[in-house]
Amino acid sequence: MTTGSRTFLLTGGAGFIGSHLAERLIADGNRVIVLDDLSTGSYANIESLDRGHAPSGRFKFICDTVLHERVVEEVVREADTICHLASAVGVNLIMNQPVRTIETIFGGTDTILRCAARYRRRTMIFSTSEVYGKSADVPFREDGDRLEGPTTKHRWAYACAKALDEFLALAHWKQSRLPVVVVRLFNTVGPRQTGQYGMVLPNFVKSALANEPIRVFGDGRQTRCFCHVLDVVDALVGLMESAETSGEVFNIGSSEEISIGDLAREVVRLTGSRSEIVLVPYAEAYGDDGFEDMQRRLPSVEKIAKLTGWKPSRSLERIVQDVRESF
Ligand code: UDP
Repeated sequence: MTTGSRTFLLTGGAGFIGSHLAERLIADGNRVIVLDDLSTGSYANIESLDRGHAPSGRFKFICDTVLHERVVEEVVREADTICHLASAVGVNLIMNQPVRTIETIFGGTDTILRCAARYRRRTMIFSTSEVYGKSADVPFREDGDRLEGPTTKHRWAYACAKALDEFLALAHWKQSRLPVVVVRLFNTVGPRQTGQYGMVLPNFVKSALANEPIRVFGDGRQTRCFCHVLDVVDALVGLMESAETSGEVFNIGSSEEISIGDLAREVVRLTGSRSEIVLVPYAEAYGDDGFEDMQRRLPSVEKIAKLTGWKPSRSLERIVQDVRESF
């Protein structure tokens, strides 16, 4: 599959990552249909595409949910390729709306894959580094073991629902050779990401710009790797252009690890902020109903690098600068 003059259906295309992908696909000469119920996505993210920035007829927005099979069927039929990004997102939403989390994640993917199977459409399923759970076997490889906590701790529902999405996608490949590819995104950051659902970087930058305290949860020694959304979009396009991805799972993320405490200090330094950095116990940050944080989250990106030559090129400094400008 190559990009350029194809029609892509992007579920969740009004979200942070989806809207950047939509812009890129249109710039490459494709047509894009966005299906998004604007629950966590925002019309502002696609407004310029929808109001004529995209060449005529090359962008369409449908405001609806991926759980409406009749609507999904229609747009799947119209597309050549489906990128299924729609999902419950962010720790806050996942902890506060547990039923909706499971229903939209699994129900949405099931509907998409059933329609994709009916019309034999190539489908990219967006999964997450959360599926590795609290495994300490870093860097995480796609074929590595997963380690998830008990069902009484709600955080794990997200990881399990996403893992079930992966199983279902791979089952369609196995059973009927539906061309699916699963991508596991690690911490992705950049303009348009909102801190509203708990993500760390937009929250830190927002606090820094207001010279308000920056709240580091736990002891701040937990680490993450932050990848610029435009690097992630490059990776996605590379995978879509390759013919050898069907039935495969790929990590996408940066391999540069930083502790959350150091991230806070970097954000203060790069924004010239007067914010103080405060440590906030997890129970206070997330409430006492079973949140468990991951200590390290480091991807192996050997597999995608080998197939497509991709590696991220934008630094943390550039990321903070872009996020800062976007506020
Ligand atoms: N975090 C923090 N302050 C915040 C938001 C998050 O210290 O205001 C921490 C959080 O506990 C986690 C890390 O930053 O250790 C990354 O959190 P995020 O929710 O962005 O991503 P994830 O935990 O899903 O990798």
